[in-house]
Amino acid sequence: MTSQNSGNRKSRLPEAPATRPAESLKQDILRHVLYSLGRDTERPDRQTVFRALALSLRDRLVEKWIASQRDIYSRSSKRVYYLSLEFLPGPFLRENLIALGLENEAREALTDMGFGLDDVADEEYEPGLGNGGLGRLASCYLDSMATLRLPAYGYGIHYAYGIFYQLIKEGRQVERADNWLRGGTHWEFERSHYVHPVRFYGQVREWVDEQGRLRHSLENATTVMAMACDMFIPGHKNDYVLNMRLWAAKTSREFEFSFFNTGDYIGAVEEKIRDENISMVLYPNDEAPEGKELRLKQQFFLVSATIQDIVRRFRKKGIAWDQLPRKNVIHLNETHPAVAIPELMRILVDEELLTWEEAWYICVRTFAYTNHTVLPEALEVWPEDLFRRLLPRHLQIIHEINRRFLHDVRRQFPNDPNILGRVSLVHEGESRWVRMSHLAIVGSFSVNGVSAHHSEILKESVFHDFYKIFPERFNNKTNGITPRRWLRQCNPTLAWLITEHIGPEWLTDLAQLKKLEPYVNSEGFHRAWMEVRLRNKHKLAEYIRDKNGITVMPESLFDVHVKRFHEYKRQLLNVLHVIALYNRIRSSPGSVTVPRTYIFGGKAAPGYYMAKHIIRLINSVAYTINTDPRVGDLLKVVFLQNYCVTLAERIIPATDLSEQISTAGMEASGTGNMKFALNGAITIGTHDGANIEIMEHVGNENLFLFGLLSHEVNEMRSQGYNPRLFYERDSELREVLDMIAGGFFSPSEPHLFRDVVESLLNHGDRYMVLADFRSYVYRQQDAANAFMDQAAWARMSMLNTSRMGFFSSDRAVDEYAKDIWGVSGV
Ligand code: PLP
Repeated sequence: MTSQNSGNRKSRLPEAPATRPAESLKQDILRHVLYSLGRDTERPDRQTVFRALALSLRDRLVEKWIASQRDIYSRSSKRVYYLSLEFLPGPFLRENLIALGLENEAREALTDMGFGLDDVADEEYEPGLGNGGLGRLASCYLDSMATLRLPAYGYGIHYAYGIFYQLIKEGRQVERADNWLRGGTHWEFERSHYVHPVRFYGQVREWVDEQGRLRHSLENATTVMAMACDMFIPGHKNDYVLNMRLWAAKTSREFEFSFFNTGDYIGAVEEKIRDENISMVLYPNDEAPEGKELRLKQQFFLVSATIQDIVRRFRKKGIAWDQLPRKNVIHLNETHPAVAIPELMRILVDEELLTWEEAWYICVRTFAYTNHTVLPEALEVWPEDLFRRLLPRHLQIIHEINRRFLHDVRRQFPNDPNILGRVSLVHEGESRWVRMSHLAIVGSFSVNGVSAHHSEILKESVFHDFYKIFPERFNNKTNGITPRRWLRQCNPTLAWLITEHIGPEWLTDLAQLKKLEPYVNSEGFHRAWMEVRLRNKHKLAEYIRDKNGITVMPESLFDVHVKRFHEYKRQLLNVLHVIALYNRIRSSPGSVTVPRTYIFGGKAAPGYYMAKHIIRLINSVAYTINTDPRVGDLLKVVFLQNYCVTLAERIIPATDLSEQISTAGMEASGTGNMKFALNGAITIGTHDGANIEIMEHVGNENLFLFGLLSHEVNEMRSQGYNPRLFYERDSELREVLDMIAGGFFSPSEPHLFRDVVESLLNHGDRYMVLADFRSYVYRQQDAANAFMDQAAWARMSMLNTSRMGFFSSDRAVDEYAKDIWGVSGV
């Protein structure tokens, strides 16, 4: 692992000691209360204190950021640019306090002012600038890049509205706008002087210059300005700080001047609003792109502003363009920013007048691409017509890339003419589509999947042709999570117990958790471990009582399924089993002996009918079960609204059983699975994504895998999967489905959930819910039996935590740095 804390490196940084005494922090807070927030220091309220504390930390972060930037410049290090349409950082306060080593000082300062740190931290409203796994991964990686002291930058969009706030009303998901900026921004700096013009639409003009070169330029384009907003990401106690630069759309100055001349004041202002709409809202679809023009605009907006920023920084070096790949790597998080490839080509060819060959040589050595999904509906394509209208020059460049690429492929595979249509960057049929994944593969030197299993699927099926063409580009980087947020911060008492036994090195070297293994046979450690876990469950039970008015038993098995709602993630399979348990309790009291609390959470894309319908079904089942006096404490079902990072941090430390039950072959990796196991939850899961590697690390005896393997899913499908057979053969399953279809859980609307059952029985059960039902039920029984033996369960829990070292994002980012980016820590 790259070393990050060596003393001589630290000593080069100007003043700014890592910690300041509590008194100094308190004075800073009071100063911000008065001078930055304009409030009376005698009686600030809790929100004011939160903001003033955040501003005091920002002061410290910016000092360290400037010092870190100077370091990067003075070493002329190769830089990593991580481009992502989504970042999901979660609340910053605690993470920044931990990274800066100021937790105790903050607690003391606040106590002195009459406030508790926990209460003040609860005032923070997180920026929800991502949908789920992909955005959260980007934030874990920035945390690790900072901890590993990499010369890196995150680039994204400063959406005015992040992922919607989810309410559950009468069992249904209702979306509310997420106005995360309402309370102001305490963590960021708006850089009104860092603005770049972004140009859309218009026409391409071809002309010949004095040297006889054919030139291309864009005429009559619409210009929107991108303004930088910087947020700081500190490394763990290493005085190193990176920035996440998010672009906000602003109208251009030319435009502001012009509207005085036209006289149409209101019309001009309307146009201004239209321009600034570009960064207004995050598209709330996870793994199913919405083919809207505004979304393509957002993608280009991020890319154009970022590439201009990269080029601006590179130009300062005054070295030749062919050195660009030696000094920079641009990482594409999914295909969303893939239009960066033709944008860099455009700058090099049209503006810098490099030859096509020179420019292409630079491009394919600069870009790297991570694929996050193999769901066919998630592979991003754009109608060629839309591309032509919005980005006419970029489409020409894509065509030229494609022409040259297909020419090479034809030569490489003279006997396989069909390959050309399969790999073309443009799908040609009745309508023509630009295939963004093909563009990303052809334009990058590295293509990686996010778990060993997923990376194999990419090579064997989804991108098999490309693997034949560019075998050296394909590699795997199994995802990871930051232990600072996902153990130290969210589970402080467990973190403390661990540190007490093995020291604090695990925080930056997670493999150290292995040192816990000798303690799994210690009775005292067992007891302490289970006490901490039970205390976490008590806290979550309190939260559930406050929010949902449901009393749950902290001693019951907390069985948790939280993540985005998607049919492939199979929340439906879970609820079918809940209903089966309910039926057992009703029909043969005494047959279910382990009390369970089922906790669900997650958002469905607003336009995804079936996902929203399943949320409604879960809430209806919850209502029926929770109000049935025959059930008592044996079974409770809770849906916690608005799953987000803040809520994940509450739920994960209190979980006994972690549901990771996607249809095999469909979840690329998952990162929720890692967070639960790291905190000592036991996984019940399928042979999918990173579950397989978690099994290899924690041991098959320490989790519950079940269900079809991905090749079995494919075989069953190709042989003609008939879900009805499972229905007919399995009376318990039949009873469950008949109850749903017959209106048992929706007596006032008996047909309400009929279509859920129809999707399984009559529409092919695309996600193989019925095929996996029986093995899931058996494995759930195994889990319940295991839970009855609390000592054995404690052992499994400790072994999960102690063997999760591999899943640190420090390991993952270190692999990216060494194998793909070719950078090391400064
Ligand atoms: N959403 C949030 C708020 C998360 O914290 C995470 C990961 O923990 C995810 C979504 C992704 O979850 P999964 O990998 O289980 O789909």
